[in-house]
Amino acid sequence: MENSNTAIKGQGRGAAKEETLLRGIPGSPGICVGQAHLLDRGLSGAVRKYSLAQEQVQGEVNRFKQAVKRAEMELVRLVKQAPEELRAQTYIFEAHSALLRDKSFYGKIIETILAERVNVEWALKKTVDQITRVFSKIEDEYLRERAADVGHVQEMVLRALLGAENERLGGIAKRSILVAGDLSPAETSQLQLDHVMGIALDRGGRASHTTIIARTLQVPAVMGLGEATRLVRDDDLLILDGTRGLLILNPREETLERYGLLKHRFEAAQARMAREGRLPALTRDGLAVSIKGNIEVLEDVVQVMDRGGDGIGLYRTEFLYMRRDSLPTEEELYDNYKQILELIAPMPVTIRTLDLGGDKVAHGIRASGAENPALGLRAIRLCLMEPEILKTQLAAIYRAAVHGNARILYPMISGLEELDQIDRVSLEVQERLSKENIPYNAQIETGIMVEVPSAAVLADLFAERVRFFSLGTNDLVQYTLAVDRNDQEVAHLFQHLHPAVARLLKNVADAGKAAGIGLAMCGEMAGDPQCVPLLLGLGYFDLSMNPQMIPVVKSMVREMDLPGCEAIAQDILRLKTSFEIQRYIKEALGDVLERVFPNGGNGGPDNGDGNVKP
Ligand code: PEP
Ligand code: MG
Repeated sequence: MENSNTAIKGQGRGAAKEETLLRGIPGSPGICVGQAHLLDRGLSGAVRKYSLAQEQVQGEVNRFKQAVKRAEMELVRLVKQAPEELRAQTYIFEAHSALLRDKSFYGKIIETILAERVNVEWALKKTVDQITRVFSKIEDEYLRERAADVGHVQEMVLRALLGAENERLGGIAKRSILVAGDLSPAETSQLQLDHVMGIALDRGGRASHTTIIARTLQVPAVMGLGEATRLVRDDDLLILDGTRGLLILNPREETLERYGLLKHRFEAAQARMAREGRLPALTRDGLAVSIKGNIEVLEDVVQVMDRGGDGIGLYRTEFLYMRRDSLPTEEELYDNYKQILELIAPMPVTIRTLDLGGDKVAHGIRASGAENPALGLRAIRLCLMEPEILKTQLAAIYRAAVHGNARILYPMISGLEELDQIDRVSLEVQERLSKENIPYNAQIETGIMVEVPSAAVLADLFAERVRFFSLGTNDLVQYTLAVDRNDQEVAHLFQHLHPAVARLLKNVADAGKAAGIGLAMCGEMAGDPQCVPLLLGLGYFDLSMNPQMIPVVKSMVREMDLPGCEAIAQDILRLKTSFEIQRYIKEALGDVLERVFPNGGNGGPDNGDGNVKP
């Protein structure tokens, strides 16, 4: 077997059917084995440019307007017909609808037709190319992948222009694995699941809407394969491993056998987790661990509840500020927080104040122009510089806290003086609400994200001032190891299990325990099953994660006992490199991890050299 896509670039389509491994991005977990069904490449590839006579121009603009109306009707139909499990995701279609009428899309296309006297298809292509170029430079993965949404809207308008039905998916007669350049969220939502076992795409990433929908529908998917459509032919035999992001073309007998076993184990583990998901996460010796979910939009609450989460450990509130032209009002924020609190009550919701700035920008909020946005004017720094933004948000949180179990969490805290400033702002807000006789509850717990190394080092001082710590390991690891969390080229250096990270976690835990305050974690490390023993051993019993991982981490907790975890933590703290820690975990816990999360972490089928092993 070749060990990467690049090694097989020279192969022609008529080459012998050799086993070939393509690496992509894990989109939606699960394994499937079946024949390929190749979809056509969409309409946007074949667009040509035509010049129009002056008298044809207005007709062309009308043709575009009609097409947009038809596309809007199609989106309304999709929202209405969305299956039950996709109800929470229909905001994606609403976003597409808004994009259709956005100035930078709708207005720009009409402007191009009028100014350049060109056909609408060409004006559409030119506008979308320009928007995509701007998006592709954005560092934030979520925002970058919104470029795909523009492409999907383009396809939709093209279909409406040509009167073409959405028939790409109509020809799938037998159960197969779909291989396509891209698939729009609209198409993904309409997949006939009895015909589609898995999805392999050349484009797309972890945060694309198509990925979100595939996960919701529980269809295994691999994104960003780059050249699957070039290498795979209709009816080729494929193994798709959505957990590790692999596509194996023309697998050998042995590979098929191994994957048969892995598929069986994965499905058995899934079934067990579905059965046990709602049970509490108790260690073998009876310690109750709270397993919560991180959310970004209101709709995510359902995911947390469905997977048996014990509440919301991190509400990233910035998304309410991002996809709009003006800042949200106190009333809007209050409504949103209240809805979330009521939905999940009596379980708690930790609402994090705005973590905008740097690469996450919004209208009406000044963005840092610095070269290092992660170190720039972001999060609490930005809010303290623009206190009105913080005041509006705090007022909304205090008011919503009357309706449920809320906690406040401040991001990017690096020094105690920031807490003094926050206290002043908070007092002002409370005085105003009292004066106006507006009901509110400011007696809620306040905590800080420990995600800047200075806060971890000064944990004993911070512990005297707040009710809880929540460890943000995504940033803490980034800043401690000086590894950009968004940079693919140094992704291998981004290590949760690094000795420096372990020592900082211990320092924070010791300070938190000594002061008797709450100790939580909401960075991705909390959802990494191989980190669970270390975290429990250090005293982190309140873990919040991507909702997908809730059942997995619950299962892992059930395999643990506290004295065992404490011994593991002691051992890890003595090790000197991340390699040694990884090896130790593999030796000590490889079997448990394989049982809890087959094919998921280390010890999966691909050992990194391209040889697939069970
Ligand atoms: C973190 O930094 O670990 C965290 C949870 O916050 P975010 O990923 O939103 O920066
Ligand atoms: Mg962070």
